[in-house]
Amino acid sequence: MAKLRDSSSAHSGDQMVGKHGLVLVFLGAAVVVGCVESEADTVVNDASLAEQGSGENWLAYGRTYDEQRFSPLTQVDASNVSGLQVDWFLELPADRGLVSTPLVVDGVLYFIGSMNIVRAVDATTGTVLWEYDPLVREHAGRMRAGWDHNRGIGFWNGKVYVATWDGRLNAVDAATGEEIWSVTTVDPGEALYITGAPKIFKGKVLIGNGGTENGPTRGYVTAYDAETGEQAWRFYIVPGNPADGFESEAMEMAAETWTGEWWRHGGGGNAWHGFTYDAELDQLYIGTGNGSPWNRKIRSPGGGDNLFLCSVVALDPDTGDYLWHYQTTPGESWDYNSNMDMVLADLTIEGRQRKAMLHAPKNGFFYVIDRTNGELISAEPFTTTTWATHIDLATGRPAEVPGARYETAAALVSPTPLGGHSWQSMSFNPQTGLAYYPAMHVQTRYSDDGVDLESFQSVSYQGGFGVTITAEGASREGSMSSLQAWDPVRQELAWEIPLEGIFNPGTLTTAGNLVFQGRIDGTLRAYRADTGQELWVSDLGLGISAPPITYSVDGRQYVALLVGWGGAMSGLGGVVSAQYGWAYGAQTRMLVAFSLAGAETLPPFMEPMIPQAVEADFEVDAQLAAAGERLYGLCRSCHGPELVSAGMAPDLRASHLIVSAEAFASVVREGSRAVGGMPAYADFSDDRLLALRHYIRRQAELALAGVEPRAGPFVR
Ligand code: CA
Repeated sequence: MAKLRDSSSAHSGDQMVGKHGLVLVFLGAAVVVGCVESEADTVVNDASLAEQGSGENWLAYGRTYDEQRFSPLTQVDASNVSGLQVDWFLELPADRGLVSTPLVVDGVLYFIGSMNIVRAVDATTGTVLWEYDPLVREHAGRMRAGWDHNRGIGFWNGKVYVATWDGRLNAVDAATGEEIWSVTTVDPGEALYITGAPKIFKGKVLIGNGGTENGPTRGYVTAYDAETGEQAWRFYIVPGNPADGFESEAMEMAAETWTGEWWRHGGGGNAWHGFTYDAELDQLYIGTGNGSPWNRKIRSPGGGDNLFLCSVVALDPDTGDYLWHYQTTPGESWDYNSNMDMVLADLTIEGRQRKAMLHAPKNGFFYVIDRTNGELISAEPFTTTTWATHIDLATGRPAEVPGARYETAAALVSPTPLGGHSWQSMSFNPQTGLAYYPAMHVQTRYSDDGVDLESFQSVSYQGGFGVTITAEGASREGSMSSLQAWDPVRQELAWEIPLEGIFNPGTLTTAGNLVFQGRIDGTLRAYRADTGQELWVSDLGLGISAPPITYSVDGRQYVALLVGWGGAMSGLGGVVSAQYGWAYGAQTRMLVAFSLAGAETLPPFMEPMIPQAVEADFEVDAQLAAAGERLYGLCRSCHGPELVSAGMAPDLRASHLIVSAEAFASVVREGSRAVGGMPAYADFSDDRLLALRHYIRRQAELALAGVEPRAGPFVR
């Protein structure tokens, strides 16, 4: 089977991962390995994306404009899916977390992996045709921690569109992998990053950004000409300083809902994931982010809804002008952003045909919205929502539970900042009328004891929060997550499958009455779409974070997905996620395609391995360790809470390198492992590095003494 690279310099790392702990490296820019044969120029236009009747291609992130992730293909169906076999696979030994949705255009599969490297492969064999490396590690600059994540790419008129962690948007020749144009979409000096897929409509490419937690930010989306990269328009999500004048009437309106000097202390709303183009109504929908900081009392001390945080905002696709909005969480204070998928569907509700939008954001309510005007049709909780009892259909507003804003005392709240549902893709099957997505059922304790504007500003690394979250007081019973099949007309669960862990990935549904979903436990499964009966399971030997797709070439239907436990938040899973043993640099990451005619066998899997703390000649100073613990906040998203790594980065308790000041400085300050995913923290002083080493060793010694680490802030 196709293998990307056989030889390269080994990244020796800390070899706690054992025998196969090599991570191959990529050097240099785009490597053109071959050329795509195409008879005619592939023109992906509005009509082909809106309809895509045959289902042969998978042309856009959500397959079609409506983002349903529903395939009309029926060769694989509920009666024969049990015969699905591996057709081909591509090992990706240099990759780590793989979360993206591949695209398929006329027999070529395109996907983005670690370090935002894009590859084109033959969709029937996995043979690599070209590889494009946007060199994100060289461009990332101050954008540290998490540059390994990307959820997808765009395709239009012979070009692949690649948005990078450091904020660039690049157009690449789909035939050769050569860069055609590249623009920087964020202003220099802004701590904003991109993990989302660019969306293409009417000859334009749309991209937003993340970074709400990186201090005062002002989210925006920008549209570019797909041919030239020239900026077409930009829409700001929250208002700036009134003294500078507002960009639009929409910003003037939004400013009425903010209080205090919000432009100095906060903002946010960054649109890092959900964008849907409605080809039928010619509207563009933006799912917007949470507040910066999370705690409203810092960013808008006199209260207010804080538009357009946590909203669905409809824009004119030609001009970026505001059309309407629906805010899911007014005045949010919990990181309940509304960046999740917005799936378009025509539904018959109480005898009326409705142009609906389905949206299951972090706050735990499943919304059905009239997308002609933003009017709320219905909303019901799909998980425990202790912050609000219900959504008032007359006003469209949540009925908040007093105290849930931790305004008087710390409050145990569900959902958590992870959300009842996050970016993991939701699919909708028009034949069953059901939406399929992974839900999370966890709670966390929010507290802002002692936090006021002054104290908030004095703690710089706390930039985007203004609140602390802990597991204190939470019960630990029941499943932390589930696969849900939701009936949006009845607004109730049709069926539900309990899942292990958190951050299980998104779904695909087909006209073969099927739903496919991978799991953190390393399996890909197929269910009957109407009943949830499990029909097929395949062990892929490594936790899955990416959603599957399906496509057809020469009459053969394939189901394909990336296998590589990861994602920007997965590192925060701590012991909940680490128990599966998907260690950094261990099990081989892969792209796998299945078919009914498949006859391939996957290579033997590496057993799950949980890194063990190592003994070291190092005397821990308690005060230095405590100082290091405060600094470690930056490192948690990859190395894990309490140093329990879920595989995004090495478990440092198992590292011998930590003992050497020089070796530690070379990795952390000088960036000697940048190709392995570890950014350089050039501004870290010797004192900081020393404190970090003491903290790391303290945690290692606790582990050696058999002290169980805390579960992290997210518990059932
Ligand atoms: Ca957030």
